[in-house]
Amino acid sequence: MNYYQRQQQQNFSIVSKKETTVTTNINRTLNELPQFQPIKPFVLFYIHRTQAHFVLDELLSEAAKTKIFTIVPKIGSLFSNYMFIQVELIQDSYTMVALIEYSNENDRNSYYYDILSNFFTIIFHSSKTIQTWGNLSDLMMPYTQYGLFTYEAVLQAEAIDIQLKFKPWYNRIFRHSIQCHQYLKFDEIDTSLCTCAHRPYKSSSCQWSISKAIAYTFEERYDSYPHEAGECIA
Ligand SMILES: [Zn+2]
Repeated sequence: MNYYQRQQQQNFSIVSKKETTVTTNINRTLNELPQFQPIKPFVLFYIHRTQAHFVLDELLSEAAKTKIFTIVPKIGSLFSNYMFIQVELIQDSYTMVALIEYSNENDRNSYYYDILSNFFTIIFHSSKTIQTWGNLSDLMMPYTQYGLFTYEAVLQAEAIDIQLKFKPWYNRIFRHSIQCHQYLKFDEIDTSLCTCAHRPYKSSSCQWSISKAIAYTFEERYDSYPHEAGECIA
């Protein structure tokens, strides 16, 4: 199933999920919202140097079979010697969430380094689709310093920027309210004339943050802390 088919399928569940909570106050702070619950079940894979070889092998074989991935960069976990990144392997019925750690000092020239290099070679391939919140190549640029993949390799995969697609999707579903000056005029456009509380951006050039997108769509809180393992946005 591709991105658009999955979006079609998810639109119904997303909208019905929102409608059940539409009476709650949209203006309360993000911290007061309940924790985000993914729609699909997910399984966590902790990927690090001391992980059992069969788990690392399974990661590679599952990556080879998977067509669509979501990468969640953890920019706050990028150091000169250490990095952490979350890669989600989207399967039909569930998602595998790989929480990947890598240390330049300890892992370079090791079996683990070869596994990770192979993994990124598999996913950054023209037959794979990578979803990100933001531009894939921009997000991956800081990660190229670890030598696990190159910037040119990242460009091989088909990139889908969910952030760019979110705004028109949201505006089509959650139109201007009857009290708004823009009611029945330009549903797809955010302008300074819009007075809708459920449409927080009032300029066409503004992009949604992922926290706000989840808060306004699901009325749930998404914390992107580096080691917050219980989250999967696929
Ligand atoms: Zn409006």
